[in-house]
Amino acid sequence: MRIAVVEDDDSVGEALVDALSQVGHAPVRMRRGADLLLGHREVDLVLLDLGLPDDDGMTILRRLRGVSQVPVVVLTARDDERSVVRALRAGADDYVVKPARLGELRARIEVAARRRRDVSGADDQVVESGDIVVDLAARRVDIAGVEIALAPKEFEILAHLVARRGEAVSRQELMDAIWGDAYVAISRSLDVHMTSLRAKLGRPDAIATIRGYGYRWSC
Ligand code: CA
Repeated sequence: MRIAVVEDDDSVGEALVDALSQVGHAPVRMRRGADLLLGHREVDLVLLDLGLPDDDGMTILRRLRGVSQVPVVVLTARDDERSVVRALRAGADDYVVKPARLGELRARIEVAARRRRDVSGADDQVVESGDIVVDLAARRVDIAGVEIALAPKEFEILAHLVARRGEAVSRQELMDAIWGDAYVAISRSLDVHMTSLRAKLGRPDAIATIRGYGYRWSC
């Protein structure tokens, strides 16, 4: 598993990288929260220190959760209950206090990764909503048995919403997933593609707009 080791302390970071490599993981060392916000798509799980040089880990975690559901295990010297509760509420999957026992840390990493896989239902490749059938692997959409032609970005928007059907998906998450950056000024692109996608689907209510937040697949 590719694991981001977000840790500014070199001795701790190197020890973690060594320990995780030895048990077959592929650790990616990052020293700043900003590195994680740019590189989270390249990893399967995040090990996150809270005391980071550029921004507090708690702030980084909240920003990450705005765009990604990657599993996060917080690993920090902060052992007060308030910090634990805040981190879990901000979207951490688990919280381990330093110095960590390596066997326990490995087990918690595996549990966090497994739990997230169970929730995401990764093998759900064909999604049917009424008479709309979306084949995520074949990148094909049929409505009432007729295939409709979507541009690649339109399909990606649709696939992302359908995979999370019933859930609100933020504009930032969509932009991050499809254009690779949640924070550049490309929001017009999203609007343009969304308008065109809705027109092709011909179902005005299939994609609900959540004002001030994003969208939800509601077929
Ligand atoms: Ca630190």
